[in-house]
Amino acid sequence: MRFLSTRGQTPPLGFSDAVATGLAPDGGLFLPETLPDFSSQLARFEKLGYAELCFEFLRVFATDIPPETLRAIIAKSYTAFRDPAIAPLKPLAQNLYVLELFHGPTLAFKDFALQLLGNLYDYQCAMRRETINVLGATSGDTGAAAIHGLLGKPGTAIFILYPDGRVSPLQERQMTCTGADNVFALAVDGTFDDAQTALKEIFGDQEFRLRHRLSAVNSINLARVLAQCVYYLYAWLRVPVIERRDVEFVVPTGNFGNVLAGWLLQQMGVPIRGFRVATNQNDILYRMFTTGEYRIGDVLPSLAPSMDIQVASNFERFIYFQVGRDPARVREVMATFKKTGAYRFENFDRGVFSASRCTDADIPGIIQRVYRDYGYIADPHTACGFAQINPERVSIVLATASPAKFPDTIKSAIGIEPTDPSLEALKKRPVVKHRIAATPAAIRAFVDARAVR
Ligand SMILES: *Cc1c(COP(=O)(O)O)cnc(C)c1O
Repeated sequence: MRFLSTRGQTPPLGFSDAVATGLAPDGGLFLPETLPDFSSQLARFEKLGYAELCFEFLRVFATDIPPETLRAIIAKSYTAFRDPAIAPLKPLAQNLYVLELFHGPTLAFKDFALQLLGNLYDYQCAMRRETINVLGATSGDTGAAAIHGLLGKPGTAIFILYPDGRVSPLQERQMTCTGADNVFALAVDGTFDDAQTALKEIFGDQEFRLRHRLSAVNSINLARVLAQCVYYLYAWLRVPVIERRDVEFVVPTGNFGNVLAGWLLQQMGVPIRGFRVATNQNDILYRMFTTGEYRIGDVLPSLAPSMDIQVASNFERFIYFQVGRDPARVREVMATFKKTGAYRFENFDRGVFSASRCTDADIPGIIQRVYRDYGYIADPHTACGFAQINPERVSIVLATASPAKFPDTIKSAIGIEPTDPSLEALKKRPVVKHRIAATPAAIRAFVDARAVR
């Protein structure tokens, strides 16, 4: 299978090259050249455990990796998950389920993709007899998940920049208490945007990039989207047959990466009824799906910080389909959006999507209500999904993080402080972080000194 850029000015690549490249050189995002149709295989898939299902799905895309190798990479990627079901689907009430996606090593759904991506990088290093240095900036969950994807892997090093004092103490511990000598957590004197700006400049320096075989970690990698399709399929297959045609997935959303994966799966012949895009007060996607206008706003820090984004970087993949798979029109939309901060779609078809938003004023009340009505503790991101449940549909709310990652918000809402043994263990380990200025020169010097060669 080959993969095309949404902007149409990059030659098609195979799976491994598209994964290694990340962002296409023309600025676009990779998508499969054609979407396969799984509709005739669903009965067979029903009997498979999570890792086997993942293999049967991904082998259709990763055709340049020998099947037995791919199977081993996938099996290894899901061994660090603590629930035997990997993605357990739990019934809460009539027509209401929660899909728990937080049983991976960093207790958030990003582990589903980043454990796999770490092992794909590992495989590529071994195949090409090369080393790889991964560099990224994070405002929280992505950095921790990326670090745990590459932890201790020979031939790799990972450098993650984060704004000093502006990630939660537990998130910081997940990045700085690993004890691995290929992990460098860099506490930047500045904001997340300062770190991003410095990184852009570094990635623009072709010589430096090639010298260290630098790879970016970000939310637009093709492997992340495809890995995330699998838990939608797995969950849909766990619902009783008579309910399956009515399933609406409710997805706490920031960059549109998670919900896009579900929608792509539906396009591949899985009859999912709909998706709800559940945003926090950073509601660009809520406004998009209710008005047809994609307009940038200011980022307001919120109780659900992993959804505090201004521009939904994966939305371009949806735009590609919305404009009739015409890369010239994608380029036009993205150029207008970049120049004016807005784009209004004529005849926007929201299709199977609905949207909801909730502010920080709503979140504690929702956590209380969910606890009272179902005895279930939802983290602040997941709470956004519970904002507006449609009782006519079979709703599956995606629980994107463990409540134990946000003990203060939960405690002030319901008086209970959730804990997790893995987080408790972190509190006993030494913090190893490197303070650094948010300048390209300082970051370059650090990478020069510590990169794996
Ligand atoms: C990243 C993240 C989200 C948002 O996911 P997107 O793919 O950016 O929409 C939601 N919840 C949690 C806990 C996250 O870490």
